[in-house]
Amino acid sequence: ARRIVLAAHPRGLPTAQDFRLEEVPMPAPDEGQVLLSTLYLSLDPYMRNLMDKVGPVYAEAVGLGAPMVGGTVGRVVASRHPGFQAGELVLGNAGWQSHALSDGSDLVRLGDVEQPSLALGGLGMPGFTAYVGLLDIGRPRPGDTVVVAAASGAVGSVVGQLAKLKGARAIGIASGADKCRQVVEELGFDACLDRREPDLAARLAAVCPDGIDVYFENVGGEVFDAVLPLLNIGARMPVCGVIAHYNDEAPPAGPDRLPGAMAAILQKRIRVQGFVILDHYADRYDAFRREMGQWVAEGRIKLREDVVEGLEAAPEAFIGLLQGRNHGKLVVRVAAD
Ligand code: NDP
Repeated sequence: ARRIVLAAHPRGLPTAQDFRLEEVPMPAPDEGQVLLSTLYLSLDPYMRNLMDKVGPVYAEAVGLGAPMVGGTVGRVVASRHPGFQAGELVLGNAGWQSHALSDGSDLVRLGDVEQPSLALGGLGMPGFTAYVGLLDIGRPRPGDTVVVAAASGAVGSVVGQLAKLKGARAIGIASGADKCRQVVEELGFDACLDRREPDLAARLAAVCPDGIDVYFENVGGEVFDAVLPLLNIGARMPVCGVIAHYNDEAPPAGPDRLPGAMAAILQKRIRVQGFVILDHYADRYDAFRREMGQWVAEGRIKLREDVVEGLEAAPEAFIGLLQGRNHGKLVVRVAAD
């Protein structure tokens, strides 16, 4: 079996040397366990936070020498668990490994699905994040203007399409002309701005003539700076992620703009709410599965994947994700189905 472990805690943007590919003996299931063969591995921004010495508050950091964690779609290849049979396709958490053991408690049967990798994307955790964050926290009303960055990515692409479905205007921000064109032409956003071109604040103001009612915060940084002055009274800001800061090693250079941001939040009565999707499975996952499954089946929500080949390609692909090189939900095809 092969696996990728954390070789060093990154300083800033991770490098290939922070990971190590290892060959290990094939694990054998004990009574009550199954052996999984990974077909698809999900690569997600939160993994960067788990690589630090002290992980985020919602999860444990990956130890040095331990396999990188991650959501996977796999096949049960051997079972000593009464609830699972060899051959079954399951959603699980095998991490960056070709094979892994599970006691079954974290596995969800996928049945006979056409595109199993979607369970890691729009029909899984990232899609659910968009659903809860936008619909429950952002609460767009018809005619509202909704802004989201990383707009062609796993979460952002669904946020904008859900906004449209609810009758709001959707404005995306992404890097590069190709992504921006696809966000408008294929995903149906009203506009998408290239964050790498100059004058983002002025261009954003031009496409938001009525201000911004919902800012779905995925990135922070310069995008947040451009958005803040355009927020309307009573705007909602679900705080989902701040990927622009995941590689920061120190606070940004001054002047300190936090007091200005707090004053704007106060004066405009902005509702800022952070959320971690893990908290919402018990209450909202069934509704999400039903509704999103239907919207995707009807073609009302389109899901785009960026699939890279082979476990050994995971580190480079993940480093690329932190720089905007992925176009759609990033997954690794670890083994042929
Ligand atoms: P994506 O598929 O959107 O990939 C990440 C994207 O972030 C990149 O493609 C890039 O898009 C953008 N990005 C990278 N660096 C920067 C930067 N410096 N400034 C602005 N944008 C940048 O990832 P996901 O959809 O999986 O995740 C999106 C966000 O949602 C992340 O912040 C993630 O941490 C968060 N998240 C939070 C969850 C929660 O429970 N709160 C659950 C899941 C995700 P581009 O170059 O096109 O701008």
